[in-house]
Amino acid sequence: MAALPADLPSFRGRLVPRDPARVKAMVLHLRHELHGASKGDRGRVVRSTVPDADPATVAAACTACGGHCCRKGGNDGFLDTHDLVRIAAALRLNRQKLEAAYAAAVADATHKDSCIFHGARGCTLSREMRSRVCNAYYCGPLERLLKGAAQSSPGAGKPASVRAPARRA
Ligand code: SF4
Ligand code: SF4
Repeated sequence: MAALPADLPSFRGRLVPRDPARVKAMVLHLRHELHGASKGDRGRVVRSTVPDADPATVAAACTACGGHCCRKGGNDGFLDTHDLVRIAAALRLNRQKLEAAYAAAVADATHKDSCIFHGARGCTLSREMRSRVCNAYYCGPLERLLKGAAQSSPGAGKPASVRAPARRA
């Protein structure tokens, strides 16, 4: 694996106890988005800029960074209607159980001023429960690293066969 770039972002936040008000806000967000599903809302289009990213490189970079981009996750983790419909179907959960699963995924200690799912060791959601944004996004330094690695690898130029991994290990 190529050396991590010197300009890789870094997040060293402060952990605070799980906040019931934030959990409630997250659950209300899920309800609101799922209500959109009944109106036919399919959510925004999300595409990864590096669809064949190497999972090991992503995991190493995002672990070293600590989740700088997760600061913008707020109380919703970027989850929208489209994500929730897909995830509920994949996990075979009804709305009530889906809400309970997300509430249970919030750690006892979360990072202050970051995503509600940003715990001491990174994202507390399984990859299956993360939004398309979370699974597809790479910051500039990581994107450049991934694209450089792809160009120098023996498989460069071949069609992508691996779905973009989650950005956190
Ligand atoms: S994509 Fe990874 S390396 Fe870049 S800011 Fe997010 S967690 Fe950090
Ligand atoms: S990867 Fe996890 S912690 Fe980061 S923004 Fe997405 S849901 Fe939140």
